[in-house]
Amino acid sequence: MSSNCTKKVVYIDSKHLRKECDRIPQVNGRATLVHELIVACGLLNHLTPVPSRLATEEEISSFHSRLYIDFLQQVNESDDLEAHEDEQEEFGLGYDTPLLSRMYDHVRVIGGGSVVAAEALTSSGAEVAINWCGGWHHAQRDGAEGFCYVNDIAMAILKMCKKFQRILYVDMDLHHGDGVQNAFASTSRVMTLSLHHHGPGIYPCSGDVTDVGISNGRYYAVNVPLHEGVSDSTYCDVFQKVTEKVFDTYRPDALVVQCGADGLHGDPVGCAFNLTSETYTTCASLLLSRGLPTLFLGGGGYNLPNTARCWVALTAAIAGCKLPAEVPEHDFLGEYGPYFEFGVQPSLRKDYNTKEYIDSIVQQITENLKHVELKEKSQSSEKR
Ligand SMILES: [Zn+2]
Repeated sequence: MSSNCTKKVVYIDSKHLRKECDRIPQVNGRATLVHELIVACGLLNHLTPVPSRLATEEEISSFHSRLYIDFLQQVNESDDLEAHEDEQEEFGLGYDTPLLSRMYDHVRVIGGGSVVAAEALTSSGAEVAINWCGGWHHAQRDGAEGFCYVNDIAMAILKMCKKFQRILYVDMDLHHGDGVQNAFASTSRVMTLSLHHHGPGIYPCSGDVTDVGISNGRYYAVNVPLHEGVSDSTYCDVFQKVTEKVFDTYRPDALVVQCGADGLHGDPVGCAFNLTSETYTTCASLLLSRGLPTLFLGGGGYNLPNTARCWVALTAAIAGCKLPAEVPEHDFLGEYGPYFEFGVQPSLRKDYNTKEYIDSIVQQITENLKHVELKEKSQSSEKR
């Protein structure tokens, strides 16, 4: 396997982190599957592995509320989780995001992975950092939400804000990145860009093109609402057009990219888009071509072998390596049958995003971004 990579690519790698990520009910065992495929493909030779650590209480409280942290600490040692059933609803727990045993430990481990990845970019000279165990974009300040117990992304961005002036967050998950958008809705230090499935009753219901942020952050939230059946070509086309406008107006100095893979065809939770890994690698390459410090994170992705295929293809693309033609022999080979190929094939389903619709969305975003352009210009002339 050849590598033409000259970048220092940090890969957050810790057994403890994978074990904690593996016990999230909807992605049970996924972190191990992804990591073992990375190892089997020989990609570790092209990455700089960095161990994770636990997030400190201060780092968790940089984003999460005191009330939520107190609750997590209180239930951490509890053997009887049912005893907390009434309180847990208050913190978004129950139903699809059940209370886990040792919840505070879990939050420290998962949060710590992305905080360490952020530190690699701010203080150890890495140009790119990868943490496939991170990307929990729905968690809110006051509690868990949509399978996400801790907003590791907000914590990582806050850490990066200590060094970088303007951070662009790009969310490729099928669902709107509401937790991260809410975290930074009122600041111009972070621009959030989310492309997602949107329509009546579609979780989490936010993220229309008119959803632009508030106060000082007004127009610094960019949303690309998409209909069912999005194909690789539609996604890459709108991604390229919107990111180009965002880079022209905002000129970020660092990037954070959530690579939720539930937009892949065959995802049992997403079930709406018709993407292949090509979309993810093409869009990642577009972002990397800007040459900015970049943090890549995981997220959704509930067809576990396909998510592993996608993130391993992304890892190879980021590190500038080629993947073998087929999934190599390793302990989890059986998960990739019956074809053992890396490609995720699209279906023949209809793409409901017409050219007219995409053009109208790009047009509205262009209009919204004019406000950012004016504000950025007046700020830079004030500094002179
Ligand atoms: Zn999702």
